[in-house]
Amino acid sequence: MMQNGHIRGHAVLLKGRSGIGKFIFARFLAKSLLCKNPAADHMACGDCVSCNWFERQTHPDFVIISPETMLSDPANAVQSDNEGLPPNESKIKKKPGQHISISQIRELDDFVYLSGHQSGYKIVLICPAEAMNGAASNALLKKLEEPPEQVLFILVSHQPHHLLPTIKSRCQQIAMPVPDTEAAMEWLRQSSATNDMDKLRALLALSGYSPLAALALAESHEAHRKFIDSICRVDQFDPLAAAEALHDLDLVMTVEWLQKWCYDLLSCRISGVIRFHPDDEAHIRTLCQRAAPQSVLAYLRFLNTRQALARHPLQAKLFLEELFIRYAGLFTPALSGLT
Ligand SMILES: [Zn+2]
Repeated sequence: MMQNGHIRGHAVLLKGRSGIGKFIFARFLAKSLLCKNPAADHMACGDCVSCNWFERQTHPDFVIISPETMLSDPANAVQSDNEGLPPNESKIKKKPGQHISISQIRELDDFVYLSGHQSGYKIVLICPAEAMNGAASNALLKKLEEPPEQVLFILVSHQPHHLLPTIKSRCQQIAMPVPDTEAAMEWLRQSSATNDMDKLRALLALSGYSPLAALALAESHEAHRKFIDSICRVDQFDPLAAAEALHDLDLVMTVEWLQKWCYDLLSCRISGVIRFHPDDEAHIRTLCQRAAPQSVLAYLRFLNTRQALARHPLQAKLFLEELFIRYAGLFTPALSGLT
């Protein structure tokens, strides 16, 4: 990608599964390119004035464009893949909503075309690039078609198939690999507060083998374990009590827990494979025989529609009660016929 410390072209697209560190890599790439005194391997020195600006988030030649909701809601770290985006990057152009708007791209004009750079690159990091709506994409495309001098666009994308082909074709595309399990485990061990390898292995599985997502899950691990223990025992499961116990937690996260659990129920019944909860294999193998696969599938679809609502529920407890009553209904044939 880099030749003699320079990037070919004016735009780079880093694409790959969420939670594998694309954003952190993109930031490090920017820091290295802006560094005044890079090492022989082109890595940032960490000491120069540029690296200092960068770490204090005041670098005049670096801008991050992101949807505001991703920055303000840490629960989105797993679901929406902000990949550890720091909540208070000072140079971030904030806009409400989950999209990157055309005004955010237009506001780049001064930075891209006018402001004097320090000598060397000016860098715009857009994450995730698929959050750009149509108008924003077209505005960016114009900039990519007539690339300004010494400006580098770094696009980070978890879903590159949602990007305009015309944007992709103007980027040097780099597929970011998922780290292998051992490397991911070692990184998790170093990054998290625990040395409990069994727990870390469970978190890694639950995250879909994305180490950054696994680290985020570590914080909610206790609550998650309790939740799984309660929904395992469907015969004692009390939907109203569960809603009462969980309504203070992040609802998006709770819906995701249910999605992953039900995914495993369905997957185990159909193919025998358990992806997210290998430690709960015995429970899943028993439970999945008790619910009709088409009912579980319908429930998963229902959870998908609820995932969007979970950000702004009118009544958290009622919201969860409906989810849990339907869940319990999966295992009582007389009820599941009604849903
Ligand atoms: Zn430096």
